Amino acid sequence: MTTSSHHSPIQPSTTTVSHFIRTIVEGDLGSGLHAAIQTRFPPEPNGYLHIGHAKSICLNFGLAQDYPGSCNLRFDDTNPAKEEAEYAVAIQEDVRWLGFAWNGDVRWASDYFSVLYAFAEELIHQGLAFVDDLNADEIRDYRGTLKEAGRNSPYRDRSVTENLDLFRRMKAGEFADGSKTLRAKIDMTSPNINLCDPVIYRIKRAHHIRTGDAWCIYPMYDYTHCISDALEGVTHSLCTLEFTDHRPLYDWVLDHITIPCHPRQIEFSRLELLYTLTSKRKLLQLVQQGYVADWDDPRMPTIHGMRRRGYTPAGIREFARRIGISKSDNVVDMSVLEGCIREDLEAAAPRVMAVVRPLKVVLTNFEPGVTMARAAGFHPQHPEFGEREVPIARELWIEADDFAEIPPSGWQRLTPGGEVRLRYSYVIRCDEVIRDAVGQVVELRCSIDPATLGQNPVGRKVKGVIHWLSTEHAVPAEIRLYDRLFTVPRPDADKERDFLEFLNPYSLEVVQGWVEAAALTCAPETRYQFERLGYFCADRFDHQPGQKVVFNRAVGLKDTWAKESV
Ligand code: ATP
Ligand code: MG
Repeated sequence: MTTSSHHSPIQPSTTTVSHFIRTIVEGDLGSGLHAAIQTRFPPEPNGYLHIGHAKSICLNFGLAQDYPGSCNLRFDDTNPAKEEAEYAVAIQEDVRWLGFAWNGDVRWASDYFSVLYAFAEELIHQGLAFVDDLNADEIRDYRGTLKEAGRNSPYRDRSVTENLDLFRRMKAGEFADGSKTLRAKIDMTSPNINLCDPVIYRIKRAHHIRTGDAWCIYPMYDYTHCISDALEGVTHSLCTLEFTDHRPLYDWVLDHITIPCHPRQIEFSRLELLYTLTSKRKLLQLVQQGYVADWDDPRMPTIHGMRRRGYTPAGIREFARRIGISKSDNVVDMSVLEGCIREDLEAAAPRVMAVVRPLKVVLTNFEPGVTMARAAGFHPQHPEFGEREVPIARELWIEADDFAEIPPSGWQRLTPGGEVRLRYSYVIRCDEVIRDAVGQVVELRCSIDPATLGQNPVGRKVKGVIHWLSTEHAVPAEIRLYDRLFTVPRPDADKERDFLEFLNPYSLEVVQGWVEAAALTCAPETRYQFERLGYFCADRFDHQPGQKVVFNRAVGLKDTWAKESV
C-alpha cells in the first residue's frame, strides 16, 4: 500500500484567482518597468507563524512562482528583546513545509546593520536626522494631539557636527538606554504621526540572536524595512493594511538616501479567522500561561499546530487562494479552511476503520478461535492505494454511538432486534443487550447472517452500514479529538473582556480507542480517513510506529461549523 506516497489532489492552482496585486505586477512586467519581480516575506522571529502569515507567504512566494521572479525570506530582527533563534528555525521550517523555497540564503535585517548605520549618518550629514535627548514620555508629549499640532523638540536644531558626534557616541555605548534617540527630521505638524520626526534609532542593551552584543543601538522597523527591501532589489513590497500610513515614511527614507532602488509598497487586508486568533502576542500568551501545550498544539492556528493536527500544505495553499487578496475586510469562517483540508484529504488519504468509543459485540454464531478475512481497498477511487485484509472473529468493537436501545425515528444503525451491515462484511442482528450492575450497556450479543457476505440479504432491506474492528486484531490507540479553541467567533473583539474568558474548556478530548493494524506501523504524520469518523493524522512526535499509536483528528467528515456559527 502507498500511504507514504501521499500525493495531493490539490495541484498548484490552475484556476488562478486574479487580484489587484496581480494586476499591478502584470502591468509592471508588461510595461517593461521590471523584467522580473522580487518579493519578500519578512517575519519578525518573535513567535511562530500563524494562518495569517500563511496568507502572506502564499501571496509573496506564489507571485514569484507565477511570474518571472523570486521571493526572499528575510527576518526582521531589529527588536532583540523579543526575538529568539528557535522562532527563526521554526519559521524556515514552516515556509518549506508549505511548499515554498526562498531565493538564495535566508536574509536578516541584522546583516544590514552597518549599512543602515551608514545611511543614518548620511541623513545626519544632510541635516535630515538629529539626536534627541527627550525620553519616550516627552516625545509623546511633544507630538501633540489630534486637535493640537506637535511641537519641535528643543534638540531639533543641533548642528550636523554635534549630531554626528552624539550619534557615534550612542553607538559607542556612552549613553544609557533610552536616554537618547536618533530621529528623522520631517514635519512635527504633519497629520500623519509617522512623519512627526519618527525615531529611527534607539539605545538598547539587549543580546541579539545574531549580532550578540556588537550593537547597543538598534534601528527601528520602519527605517530598517524600506532600506532592507531596497538593498535586496525588491520590486513589490507587500504588507498588510496597517502599514498604509507608514508608506509616506517608507518613501521618505528611500528618497533621501543614496540608494538606486525604490520598491513599491502595496497593502492588502489581514486575514482574520473566526473562532481563533491571528496575533502572535496573544498566541504567545496562550503558550506561556499553559492554556495550550505549546506553539504546535494542534488547536493552535499556527502553521506548526496545523501541521501537527494533520492539515496539509496543499489544503492551506488552496485556502489562501480561495480567500483572495484585496483591501476589504478578510474575515473568514473556520469552515472555509476546514473545507479545503477535507477536500484535499478526501482524495489523498487512505481509508481504514477505527473505533473511538468502543462497545463490545459478541457474534454468538461465529465459531470461537476462528478468523476470517476479506480484502478491502484503501480508497474506493484509488485502486493504486492497494488493499488489505480486514479480519473478522467472534468478538468485535463497534462504535457505542451506532447502537441505540430506543432509536430515534429514521435510525438506520443497530438497535435491539434490528439489523445492520458491518462494513466489508456480514449483516448482523442484535439479539441481546448485556448490562452492568448500574444498567449501563456493556455488550451486545449478535448473530451474523452467513448468506450476506458481499450480497444483499434475501427478502429484506438492510440500509445501515457501520464500521467495526475485530477485538483480537485491533490495535489500541490514543485518539485526540479537537474542537474549536474559542467559544465565540471573535474572542478578541470585545475590548472590555479578556479573550481568555472565551477559551473552550472542551477543545481537547483524549480517548482510548482502537485502529486497524495498518495504522500501527505507519510513519508519524501519516493521514487516514477513519471511515465515518473523519480525517486523522499520526502524531508527529508521540506516535511511535510499531509501538504506540497516537492519532489526532484533523477534521471531521462533514462541515459542522457552517450551521452552528452565526
Ligand atoms: P502579529 O500581529 O501576529 O504579530 P505581525 O504582522 O506582527 O503579526 P510579522 O512577523 O511582522 O507579524 O509578519 C510578517 C508578514 O506577515 C508581514 O508582512 C505581515 O503583514 C504578514 N501578516 C501577519 N499577520 C497577517 C495576517 N493576519 N494576514 C495577512 N498577513 C499577515
Ligand atoms: Mg510585526
